[in-house]
Amino acid sequence: MTAPIVIVGAGLAGLRTAEELRRAGYDGELVLVGDEARLPYDRPPLSKQFVRGETDDTTLRPSEFYAEKRIDVRVSTEAVGVDTDARRVHLADGSTLGYGQLIIATGLRPRRLPGLPDLRGVHVLRGHTDAVALRADLADAATALVIGAGFIGCELAASFRANGVGVVLVEPQATPLASVLGTQVGELIARMHRAEGVDLRCGIGLDTLYGDDAGRVRGARLSDGSEIAADLVALGVGSRPVTEWLSDSGIALAEPSAGGGVLADEVGRTSVAGVWAVGDVAAWLHETGSRKRVEHWTNAGEQAKLLACALLGAAPPTAARVPYFWSDQYDVKIQALGTPNATDDVHVVSDDGRKFLAYYSQAGTLTGVVGAGMTAQVMKARAKIAAGAPITELLTPS
Ligand SMILES: Cc1cc2nc3c(=O)[nH]c(=O)nc-3n(C[C@H](O)[C@H](O)[C@H](O)COP(=O)(O)OP(=O)(O)OC[C@H]3O[C@@H](n4cnc5c(N)ncnc54)[C@H](O)[C@@H]3O)c2cc1C
Repeated sequence: MTAPIVIVGAGLAGLRTAEELRRAGYDGELVLVGDEARLPYDRPPLSKQFVRGETDDTTLRPSEFYAEKRIDVRVSTEAVGVDTDARRVHLADGSTLGYGQLIIATGLRPRRLPGLPDLRGVHVLRGHTDAVALRADLADAATALVIGAGFIGCELAASFRANGVGVVLVEPQATPLASVLGTQVGELIARMHRAEGVDLRCGIGLDTLYGDDAGRVRGARLSDGSEIAADLVALGVGSRPVTEWLSDSGIALAEPSAGGGVLADEVGRTSVAGVWAVGDVAAWLHETGSRKRVEHWTNAGEQAKLLACALLGAAPPTAARVPYFWSDQYDVKIQALGTPNATDDVHVVSDDGRKFLAYYSQAGTLTGVVGAGMTAQVMKARAKIAAGAPITELLTPS
């Protein structure tokens, strides 16, 4: 009997890889190991419907699915190391798990800010447990402070407002999402939050937090010296790839200064034979020649398909890959296709004061499109992005 394929990390990327391996005809033993106590679940609703109390269950597949597909899913099982010579994964309970092929899908862990007092009511959000704790505190909160106006911070600010909570949103950069979408589009997103009653303060950070005698957060001092009251604090200050368990494995990792993660080629092969990486933790080789991690939902499924085909020697999908992500804030779906970059030239071609459409270009070539409440227009740009069309084609009225 051949050794199993072992996938470490039972999140979206791990599950999708297991599914794609079966879809591509792999019939052998398949083990999916996850350190959380739940079956794989979907994270995007956690900052949206779940935290607002509109849904309780975001499980991706019922338990019968795993039985039917013969996926040996092991929850509450943490991998603590890997011996790539012996092809064995070391588990926290002291046991080991032999593999023929190993797939690393351990995702991210949220950053915390150093030096803050340890107070109740201060939250990060990555997993179900975080979301349950945040939702419970939100039910009793009148005012919330959100640190960081990236995707998670902006979505939480919107969800808190929807639940009638006063929000101060603090962002060290000039606008929300400045490092992802640039400041021009960031200003349009800032405008939406302000219109919804968020007290958005950019260009400053958090200095410290204050608590009451019971150890619960009650307020904060910001880096401009201002003091604000808050009975809930959410930190949306980025995440780190979960790679500590690989530190002695010999598997090449990206430098933390370059975003960290497991270095992999354009189909997920790492520096060690028989070891692959997929999803948020994986720094894949991109067409531009750079290796970078992509922290978006659609990417996990697309990488899973490419990896499964490469691992099994099956033909890869032929359709051109056009990256996609979305973020739901208030009643507006922000969507991006392609690789819009903060340093690109930005062309806002439609703006009604809330909804907008912007094309991104580099050296005259269309790189991507970002829309808010503009799904049809965003999707229409797919073929031109895939073809690397000149931006003039999009800007010239037809
Ligand atoms: C709150 C939130 C909202 C989001 N919203 C959007 C959105 O609107 N649009 C969008 O495009 N993307 C969104 N994303 C991003 C998207 O959910 C991720 O890209 C996706 O979850 C990545 O999947 P993954 O499997 O790579 O990582 P994860 O989902 O993080 O899964 C990794 C799993 O591995 C487990 N693990 C880690 N270490 C070990 C170990 N040593 N042993 C065993 N198991 C381990 C982890 O506990 C986790 O269960 C959101 C993410 C979050 C957190």
